[in-house]
Amino acid sequence: MPDAPFDCAAARADVLARIARAARAAGREPADVTLVAVSKQQPWEPVAQVLAAGQTIFGENRVQEVQGRWTDHRDGVELRLIGPLQTNKAKDAVAFFDVIETLDRERLAKALADEIQAQGKALRLYVQVNTGEEPQKAGALPDAADAFIALCRATYGLEIEGLMCIPPADEPPGPHFALLAKIAARNGLSRLSMGMSGDFETAVRFGATSVRVGSALFGARAPGIRL
Ligand SMILES: *Cc1c(COP(=O)(O)O)cnc(C)c1O
Repeated sequence: MPDAPFDCAAARADVLARIARAARAAGREPADVTLVAVSKQQPWEPVAQVLAAGQTIFGENRVQEVQGRWTDHRDGVELRLIGPLQTNKAKDAVAFFDVIETLDRERLAKALADEIQAQGKALRLYVQVNTGEEPQKAGALPDAADAFIALCRATYGLEIEGLMCIPPADEPPGPHFALLAKIAARNGLSRLSMGMSGDFETAVRFGATSVRVGSALFGARAPGIRL
């Protein structure tokens, strides 16, 4: 017998309830935690179900592929880029996204600053920090984060909204969330994008203001599906 179809609207209600419970348990307001639905590599149908359920904020990880599928659904939707950004795609990314969460190096800061000016666009930016110092992972190293944030602000005139991290898959995430919160606090930043399907409740406990949830909302991503 085939599996019953995954009910994305019910999954969203469940994730929202879990966020609210984790927030209250930490003495926080549920409304202070934003759910970002990570729709990368999902076919359109489940994304449409989550949209219909009232979700307005979505995360995607590739610039080019998302333009086609979101262009006709852009009204009232906030799109966040949560994947690595090459400088040669900065123009498209600035034009299409509302938030870029993966600012992590000077060349990209310069490219984004140039495009923000050229397009006259208000873009919200998060600096990604490689809290686990993993060589294969993007993000400013924790020791270099303060200087990088200062560079973005002073040299490139960029307003930074917050910090983002993706903890190593094989370590408890708590210490990484705590480190991100500490770096944010000493740089006067109050927004933290942290927590995914497996650890968003822990992230809320450590102060996440947005959680990026994919598979818990949409079911597992089919490995072969590339939009
Ligand atoms: C894919 C992805 C997510 C969502 O992961 P799930 O485990 O499916 O919730 C969150 N953040 C980033 C940066 C991702 O690439």
